Amino acid sequence: MLQADFIVAGATLVDGTGGPARQGDLAVHDGRIAAVGEFARPAGVPVIDASGLALAPGFIDSHTHDDGYLLAHPDMLPKVSQGITTVVTGNCGISLAPLDGTAIPQPLDLLGPAELFRFSTFRAWMDALRATPAAVNVAPLVGHTTLRVAVMDDTSRAADADERAAMRALLQEALDAGAFGVSTGTFYPPASAAPTDEIIEVCAPLRGRPGVYATHLRDEADHIVAAMEEALLIGRELDCRVVFSHHKLAGERNHGRSRETLDLINRAAATQAVCLDCHPYPATSTMLRLDRARLASRTMITWSKGYPEATGRDFSEVMAELSLDDEAAIARLAPAGAIYFLMDPADVGRIFSHPLTMVGSDGLPFDPHPHPRQWGTFTNVLRAMVREQRLLTLETAIHKMTGLAADQYGIAERGLLREGYHADLVLFDPATVTDVATFSAPIQASQGIQAVWVNGRQVWDGERTSAERQGQVLTPGTALARSK
Ligand SMILES: [Zn+2]
Repeated sequence: MLQADFIVAGATLVDGTGGPARQGDLAVHDGRIAAVGEFARPAGVPVIDASGLALAPGFIDSHTHDDGYLLAHPDMLPKVSQGITTVVTGNCGISLAPLDGTAIPQPLDLLGPAELFRFSTFRAWMDALRATPAAVNVAPLVGHTTLRVAVMDDTSRAADADERAAMRALLQEALDAGAFGVSTGTFYPPASAAPTDEIIEVCAPLRGRPGVYATHLRDEADHIVAAMEEALLIGRELDCRVVFSHHKLAGERNHGRSRETLDLINRAAATQAVCLDCHPYPATSTMLRLDRARLASRTMITWSKGYPEATGRDFSEVMAELSLDDEAAIARLAPAGAIYFLMDPADVGRIFSHPLTMVGSDGLPFDPHPHPRQWGTFTNVLRAMVREQRLLTLETAIHKMTGLAADQYGIAERGLLREGYHADLVLFDPATVTDVATFSAPIQASQGIQAVWVNGRQVWDGERTSAERQGQVLTPGTALARSK
């Protein structure tokens, strides 16, 4: 006799495999999917009528900076309201742990206030998350920039042998604690001073175990191909999957070159494990930098310590107000963050359509005027790319958000509607689901996500979060396919 806590009935089941949707029911018992498809409904079990709605595995946000936000705002409203049930943290070289300090340099400050950096080991941060769980699951990466800041007294140079050994030991501890891999952000100082061989030596503990190498490339503009070749070399040396983070071509003169970079990814995928993540917006966001501002057709300020009045405004307007050129204005605003309009929508669509592309929001959760991707990435895809542009089928989009990401990261027993899997679920109306966050008003919950469950407990009802904090700190699945 089927045991069930509740049944979602009459839904369009979009199961995360990419295969065709079908009508059916789904039963949940004790945090797991107890049955899916057609089965006899046991008497007395609550039934949620889902006719006209789609039921999918909970979305996996493949690329986040939520490390500290999970502790500070455990209801994870920006994420659960768009259907996300698992976040991959520690991207772009910056993880909250292992680092216990007060002087937090850029770009680590993108993760939130300095008082969050209080974990001298990776396990200590994971234990804190287990002691006060968030509403979503966490699949954490360790940031190479964090390791550098934790170990080196001068990060403006390559690490010496002792420093590399110390970083390697911290990484070993993190992987033993259950990290899903390493990320680098050599685009940014202070990691840009790290040569390729430093990364390979520090990341040596990745060899022979499940784990990814996720990289914010050294260059996403004119020299992107060389930067991708470096990442692929590191992946081969470490025998691990390469994740090209927020893959993009920055600057007008590079528009259209996604044909070239995706071709490189296709050729690499024939011999080594690779994948990529991306969000659907033609603008990116990070700290305020001269090179980025000069590549962008428009720059918006997301926060500024030096000139807080600039928040939410166009950089060109702020420069005029201050009567400063771009370089001087950046010095005046610093430290600061910005949104840069520098991608070609055709590149974004082409990259998004690639079969190895997952969905990653890359949002900066503590920004006072954030990029709308923090609140709207997944629902923007469902509205714009699936419903309006018909760039992707619903099944393909959901696969990218769920099964594909679980597979690439080695997240076990999640990402599919399958009997025995954890009951991370999202129920939504495919005809109306939409992002609401915009560049001018970015802090707004999505509409049309009607219910979200994490480990069988409801965390979102379409209007508000619940008090459930069932999110687990995940550890890598043993069945991670290490080949392509
Ligand atoms: Zn990044």
